[in-house]
Amino acid sequence: MSMETVPKEMRNLRACLLCSLIKTIDQFVFDGCDNCEPYLQLKGNKDLVYDCTSSNFDGVVSMMSPDDSWVAKWQRINRFKPGCYAISTTGRLPPSIVRELKTHGITYRSRDTSQKT
Ligand SMILES: [Zn+2]
Repeated sequence: MSMETVPKEMRNLRACLLCSLIKTIDQFVFDGCDNCEPYLQLKGNKDLVYDCTSSNFDGVVSMMSPDDSWVAKWQRINRFKPGCYAISTTGRLPPSIVRELKTHGITYRSRDTSQKT
């Protein structure tokens, strides 16, 4: 199977490193992250989108009713917007972003399960 058979949209999918929401790179650039935009301000900033999202993620779960979804409880994302989320995301937010989150009272927990610290 060659790379040409992979849909363009699939190749461009990325997961937000903060909330694990999965969208295409273009969606993140045009709309920002539906959950994290107040903190990350990804809209229109392609470099920041690359810093705060990862193309390396596992286990896509779709969450359509966040209020009572077992997936939401499991992922602790019950207040998040409906959409597709990654169970495991490889990568970490830049330290400057993590510091910025702290000023908003948000403690960043990496969902990177590929390396144990
Ligand atoms: Zn997010």
